Amino acid sequence: MRKTLIAANWKMHLLPVGARALVAGIREAIDPVAATLAKDREVMVAPPAILIPAVAQALAGSSMLLGAQNMHYEDKGAFTGEVAPPMLQAYGVTHVIVGHSERRHIFHETDELINKKVIAALQHRMTPILCVGETQDEHDGGRALDVVLRQLQRGLENVGDEHVPSVAIAYEPVWAIGTGRTATPEQAESIHGAIRGAILERYGRGRADAVRIIYGGSVNDENVDSLVSKPDIDGALVGGASLKADSFARIVRARTC
Ligand code: PEP
Repeated sequence: MRKTLIAANWKMHLLPVGARALVAGIREAIDPVAATLAKDREVMVAPPAILIPAVAQALAGSSMLLGAQNMHYEDKGAFTGEVAPPMLQAYGVTHVIVGHSERRHIFHETDELINKKVIAALQHRMTPILCVGETQDEHDGGRALDVVLRQLQRGLENVGDEHVPSVAIAYEPVWAIGTGRTATPEQAESIHGAIRGAILERYGRGRADAVRIIYGGSVNDENVDSLVSKPDIDGALVGGASLKADSFARIVRARTC
């Protein structure tokens, strides 16, 4: 059985006080049901890098996991402004978002760079959440699947077959991120099914069944159930709605299939 992954991407929001308060609010709502939730799901929050130490402290004793929004692929070196995998590990980071569309489009990250980060995350025993997704133009031009499968294939290049199930794939149509325009569960399921199909073809049934494919793009407490109840949608990557404790706590309790 694949564990549902509900992941929060706080992007460039919050200060230490607000971050601690948000974690406290989420914990108040989900700690009492943590044992039940832990049976079939993982919950992760990814704060801005500088807030990772504060959030690590706030999470102490919780089943919630700590994530990063980005990282460099080298362990150390002359890379001003970057954060290395061992630095994240030192604070207990278990998941790292890689290739988010904002990194691809605003910071011009290429598939090649993203692939290096996926490999580095795996080498450091962190779960890379590899984001793929088409832009509005690509969507309108009927090229969504081509784009997504190309990003998937390039993102997984040189990843050992046995490590593929340790990667979580996030299908995030760019036109749905932060816009309030969610893909319908049917639209998302069809892309998720195709991603799983591509993994099946390349890596075999066992790995395709094990890999998690989560959806991101304007997920909220009202639409999450209909999305994650689809068989190939194994969770959600949540931006805006993860910044409010009550809505994120509700998303965490989503009804899965
Ligand atoms: C995201 O940042 O990955 C995201 C999906 O954002 P939002 O939920 O706000 O669309």
